[in-house]
Amino acid sequence: MGKPVIRVLGGGKEVGRMSILVRRNSGDKRGILLDAGVNFDDEDRPVFAATYPPKYIDAIILSHAHLDHIGTAPMYFISGNPRVYATRPTIQMAKLMLEDFLKLNGYYSPYEHREVQTLLEAAEYIRYGQRVDIDGVEASAYSAGHIPGSTFVVLDIDGVRIGFTGDINTIETKLMKPPQLDAIGRIDVLITEATYGASLHPPRERAEKRLLSIVEEVVDRGGTVLIPSFSIARGQEMMMILAEHDPGVPVYVDGMIRKVTEIFLENSEYINNLHLLRKAYEEFNIVKGWRDRNRAWRQPSVIIASAGMLKGGPSLYYLKRIGGNPRNAVVLVSFQAPGSNGRRIVEEGLMPGSEEPVRARVEWLDFSSHADYKGLLEVVKATKPRMVVIVHSEEDVAKEYAKHVMDTGIPEKIVIGENNSDIAVDA
Ligand SMILES: [Zn+2]
Ligand SMILES: [Zn+2]
Repeated sequence: MGKPVIRVLGGGKEVGRMSILVRRNSGDKRGILLDAGVNFDDEDRPVFAATYPPKYIDAIILSHAHLDHIGTAPMYFISGNPRVYATRPTIQMAKLMLEDFLKLNGYYSPYEHREVQTLLEAAEYIRYGQRVDIDGVEASAYSAGHIPGSTFVVLDIDGVRIGFTGDINTIETKLMKPPQLDAIGRIDVLITEATYGASLHPPRERAEKRLLSIVEEVVDRGGTVLIPSFSIARGQEMMMILAEHDPGVPVYVDGMIRKVTEIFLENSEYINNLHLLRKAYEEFNIVKGWRDRNRAWRQPSVIIASAGMLKGGPSLYYLKRIGGNPRNAVVLVSFQAPGSNGRRIVEEGLMPGSEEPVRARVEWLDFSSHADYKGLLEVVKATKPRMVVIVHSEEDVAKEYAKHVMDTGIPEKIVIGENNSDIAVDA
């Protein structure tokens, strides 16, 4: 009968574009897909994950709503109709993310709104702790602590348990409870992300304190603080930190952060400190149009706005208004990709698309929603896999992390996943 076979379709030796195919054995063409994401190249054009014939896909399980895990999934609905499993917030956010993706990248996309619609309609909600049967394969969902709704997936295939972290974080934040790793139990094969498999993050409280002290200093001298944030999770976390320590000036929230906050409030079981999120949503000024937007930056205030890397969206608008004045500050709290506007203001101190210097104070704080290598090792220690497959990681980072895993003495075999290659499970 043979053992299960894992094929990396995307996310091998690269961060993002995650997609994994799991088949029962090498003789079986049919399989289950774990994520199907998209990345972006230097020119910001989409780079899709490799695909597998849709007619052989029994189900797609989406670990969470970030585009690097879902952006290729609608492609399976051009000629197929697989089942889709994900948590409710994942599906609700997937709708926002995929529609926004098509708005910006429709020209490059092989799928259209119709396929996105079919995917969303096919979705069945799963909850943490729940099991579903997919033609004899038992799939179960556990929390992953990365963003609300993010899932650690376990497939039980003929007695072999294969675990997939999706993106994972092991620390508690205001927004996220840490994952319940003990609930997962022992697994045979762990397919793990290792975005930060070679680094350590500073303690979260330190980043929070730093943010609050910058806000206080800038606001005290009558300035405005711009916090460019990702729409999913980072923006809400910033709202929650500020809601707990009233900055004494108006706080404005602009961009897709608002809709995502509403989804979070509807899915309270996935939120750690719900009271704080609700307080922020009720007390802060939600920017609804140009009048609000104009008012926001003309007074001492704190502005939380998407996009997180200043690629576009309201954060870029505000930067252009406040960036020239040394009284103000721009606090970056998200990953800044090389070549992004955010990275450029940190490294070169220049305004996007010009040679004008940024005169506002610029700070970059680490609020990562990915576990560092110590956090990732906690997952290995809790699940005691016989085999570890490393994905969602740059090659040199994956190699570093493989050494850390080896040092635990837990798995017998460690594989760095490679795109378009099969991994035989010999557990
Ligand atoms: Zn990811
Ligand atoms: Zn993610």
